[in-house]
Amino acid sequence: MLFRSERMATFDSLTGLPNRAQFRTHLSRALELLSQTERKFAVLSIDLDRFKNVNDTLGHQAGDRLLSLVAQRLKACVRDNDIVARFGGDEFVVLQREMEQVEDGGELAGRLVKALSAPYEIDGQCVLIGASIGIAVAPEHGDDPEELLRNSDLALYRAKAAGKGDYRYFSADMDEEMQARRTLEIELREALRTDAFELHFQPLIDLQSGVVTTCETLVRWRHPTRGLVPPTQFISVAEETGLILALGEWVLRRACAEAVTWPARVRVAVNLSSIQFQAGKVVDLVSSALAASGLPAERLELEITESILLADTEDTLKALQQLRDMGVRISLDDFGTGYSSLSYLSSFRFDKIKIDRSFVRDVANRPDAGAIIQAITGLASTLGMCTTAEGVENPEELEWLRAQGCKEVQGFLFSRPLPARDLRA
Ligand code: C2E
Ligand code: MG
Ligand code: MG
Repeated sequence: MLFRSERMATFDSLTGLPNRAQFRTHLSRALELLSQTERKFAVLSIDLDRFKNVNDTLGHQAGDRLLSLVAQRLKACVRDNDIVARFGGDEFVVLQREMEQVEDGGELAGRLVKALSAPYEIDGQCVLIGASIGIAVAPEHGDDPEELLRNSDLALYRAKAAGKGDYRYFSADMDEEMQARRTLEIELREALRTDAFELHFQPLIDLQSGVVTTCETLVRWRHPTRGLVPPTQFISVAEETGLILALGEWVLRRACAEAVTWPARVRVAVNLSSIQFQAGKVVDLVSSALAASGLPAERLELEITESILLADTEDTLKALQQLRDMGVRISLDDFGTGYSSLSYLSSFRFDKIKIDRSFVRDVANRPDAGAIIQAITGLASTLGMCTTAEGVENPEELEWLRAQGCKEVQGFLFSRPLPARDLRA
């Protein structure tokens, strides 16, 4: 009886592999031995790519079966005195002992990725997954268990970010980058608390009449030492940490309140992050911001990017439709940078397509960019959508865009983003 409960405490019940607690014991012992044997060892953190897909489409039983097969393949790749452990979910860790050299870690990782990426047969179905691996070698990458595990995890995070199905060694700059992100996160929280964000607005101009139709809201951060920080430097961290929800709500409410004071023919555009859609309360938030400010729904334009349509499409399309039914306009931002699938244009009737600056730049000298803009403006006008060219910086670009049938323009040629008081002037 005692034996059984002890076993449960140190082994993973699904795969029979050692669990996290037992792995830590092995790791501590390996570190103790390090000074005596002077043989290096490595911690390899493994994460399966697309495992969630299998669980979602074939069910949890198939998922469990796959994890058992993964455990077998891992065991088959390592030597008898190496340790393969399961930390939970699709997270596995290998302790590779008695290495000759640092490169042995990458050699094993390469074999593991290959072995795990070979097809599996589950309930008569062929299943394909991949694996990403982070490697920390002792003693060069750490001399205590926590540090080694954290560093192999950091390397894994990098391996995944670099496009899955590969391995990475830990390096000191990964740690620095992580520290910098952590500092940024703390500072962002503080900034939200102390109201350190500001809104700037950039006009969108109707090409035919030359009047301002809309002003786009662009957030900036008044940083105590770094000055005015542009959103490109903090939006992604805000998204990763979920802070974008609070920040995005603040931006929307402020933008609506500001826009109420503008001439009634000028709309306000606000960028929304896909995280705000995933969180599921966008429609309520927009209604609330409109009600609180008194801004008519018709004067609000929401800019979204294709990434919103990649995840969880059904709920997203429903939310977009509800917003549209309220009278809010929906724009597809940065078109031409992501997948730029034309199928998005038929999955939802956007009011506006914003063509990314990368296409507008040097448009006169690049036939490919020109052809694409022509195709988009043509398609958009057939579908009844407006096209706006972003980042127009000189008169040549402007004339060319006009000739291609572009309806609206935005860019430094007309105005940089400005604080609200300068904008009114
Ligand atoms: P975006 O929505 O595509 O905004 C346009 C960006 O292009 C702005 O950069 C603007 O300042 C810049 N821009 C405009 N005209 C020109 C031009 O003629 N030349 C050049 N070189 N650049 C031009 P900004 O303000 O740095 O914003 C960057 C991005 O950050 C925005 O791209 C948007 O995706 C995001 N962002 C800004 N504010 C918010 C926000 O409140 N919420 C969310 N989720 N994202 C935001
Ligand atoms: Mg935008
Ligand atoms: Mg854009």
